[in-house]
Amino acid sequence: MTTPLTHRLAVYTGTFDPVHLGHLDIIGRGSSIFDRLIVGVGINPDKQPFFDQSERVELVRAVIAPYANVSVLPFTSLAVTFVREVGARVMLRGLRTTSDMENEFTMSLMNLNLDPEIETVFLMAKEAYSHVSSTLLRQIATFGGNLEKFLPPTVQRALEDRVRQRG
Ligand code: ADP
Repeated sequence: MTTPLTHRLAVYTGTFDPVHLGHLDIIGRGSSIFDRLIVGVGINPDKQPFFDQSERVELVRAVIAPYANVSVLPFTSLAVTFVREVGARVMLRGLRTTSDMENEFTMSLMNLNLDPEIETVFLMAKEAYSHVSSTLLRQIATFGGNLEKFLPPTVQRALEDRVRQRG
């Protein structure tokens, strides 16, 4: 691998279907810890997403605009492969609950096995967002609930439009 690795660049990976204020909180806090943060928007082969990958990337792009050191890229490979490809050594993840912890613990151990040079760094979710997940927000949107407290306005509009299109 020819790309030099740097400790100051981190990659925040996820599906972001769609990006919400809990994610944005991790992005904001990550951007103040690292010199540069890349949001990596992946695909989940087990799920049919509400937004396709390029739409999810564009929604992330819209909400990271205030952060000069944050950018967004799509990826289709394993997360550790993507992290190495962009020259990073740190994968950033958010933790909401103890059930997240179990999954994330397993995933970070597997990732360490796949690439021992890449470390996962966790930030605890802010209390106000610790119950927020994209899955719940998609369900709330489907039943016409109020999403204002959990989504940036651009994303809220996009999600409401998508629900209308799907009928
Ligand atoms: P997944 O990768 O399971 O599809 P997401 O794409 O929604 O989940 O989340 C990407 C990352 O953001 C994961 O590390 C997840 O734990 C974290 N995350 C999700 N929701 C929140 C939240 N409300 N607050 C903090 N972190 C979160």
